[in-house]
Amino acid sequence: MLFKNITIINENYDVIKDTNVLVQGNKIKYIGSEIPKAYNGEIYDGKNKVAMPGFFNTHCHVPMTLLRGYGEGLPLQRWLQEKIFPFEALLTDEDCYWGTLLGISEMIKSGVVSFTDMYSRLETLVQAIEETGIKANISNSYLKFDDNEDYFKDRSYKDTEFIRNYVKTSVHDRIRGDVSIHAEYTSTEKVVRQISEYCNEANMNMHIHLSETAKEQQACKERHGLTPAEYFFKCGTFKNKTTAAHCVFLEGDDFNILKENKVTVSHCPTSNLKLGSGIAPIKTMLEHDINVTIGTDGAASNNNLNMLEEVNLAALLHKGANNDPLFLGQKDILKISCLNGAASQGREECGCIKVGNRADIIIYDFDKPHMQPAFDVLANIFYSAQASDICLSMIDGNVVYKNGIFTNIDMEKVYYNVNRIKDEKLNLLKL
Ligand SMILES: [Zn+2]
Repeated sequence: MLFKNITIINENYDVIKDTNVLVQGNKIKYIGSEIPKAYNGEIYDGKNKVAMPGFFNTHCHVPMTLLRGYGEGLPLQRWLQEKIFPFEALLTDEDCYWGTLLGISEMIKSGVVSFTDMYSRLETLVQAIEETGIKANISNSYLKFDDNEDYFKDRSYKDTEFIRNYVKTSVHDRIRGDVSIHAEYTSTEKVVRQISEYCNEANMNMHIHLSETAKEQQACKERHGLTPAEYFFKCGTFKNKTTAAHCVFLEGDDFNILKENKVTVSHCPTSNLKLGSGIAPIKTMLEHDINVTIGTDGAASNNNLNMLEEVNLAALLHKGANNDPLFLGQKDILKISCLNGAASQGREECGCIKVGNRADIIIYDFDKPHMQPAFDVLANIFYSAQASDICLSMIDGNVVYKNGIFTNIDMEKVYYNVNRIKDEKLNLLKL
């Protein structure tokens, strides 16, 4: 496809007007003011359109769209124990397939080209990801619900081995498998060491929750005499490329540990605010040169997977919290939400629009009242745009969404099934 006479944000985050972008296969082959003469393929008219790199949502539990809005108005522990866990216990593989399709459709609609996920039932997730064309790093997290003291006898290990082998034989690299430990408070030290060693030997990425609440931080210090970051470092967890979600209560040496071990932070501002956890110290993280990225978390605690909204909130929240209108400028927020996310997933050819990179391109329609005039294209994207202004999404060179229509998802079927699942589970819970 040739995007003709379009405005783009290039690899240096400069706005280039009236240029042409040629995509061939899964890559960007050419960017320039001349239209390639020999080209006779599909042409996309770029008038009043802006091409941006797609977002990387670095923390999600995608099938949890099925629980959106369930059990609102309860404090965290009661919400989990009385609502979320009993509902999740009833979910089947097929249910999670429909929930995953719903979540992926939401993400694609808001400009996500790849996500990092922590859940279970990876075979089901793989099916939905394969069908839709999105990219993802997926993992099954170890959770000590059954008091299992041996990772290698746990279902999360079996699922991790499944994804590890699947990736090896896959003809493309859109899907990657990560290893995951849910959190310090849902695992024992023995298992954390076991999983970290396995991750290291398998040369996979690690995905954890870290320092999400004050209670978690305090309890960890009481149990181990260490903060969660110090504890995981001691257990060897950070030897591999790690994404740590939340990090609201980092303190003292935690920042240095994350920096020195190249741990990526997935900042999930909506979830942290909605669950009353707090505001993550993003400014201190960036001062320590930590790789900060943005995540939506699951739809049960957000309550959507709208990445543009998440990025907009992050951009505003930290200006206010730091009394600094210059903090997290448009170029910073672009880097955090695209390039840093791609790096956290180990996708070196992704995260910005440049020749040779994967064609992960999102088109914004500027032909809207709230998008005019365009003094500052990036300011309009991050402070004025709505997800509904995204009119096309291309992932690895394939158009997966155009003008409200998903190429590979039948939304009517998805809506029917997620509501059927809701009614079925509510009936079962009433029995
Ligand atoms: Zn989470």
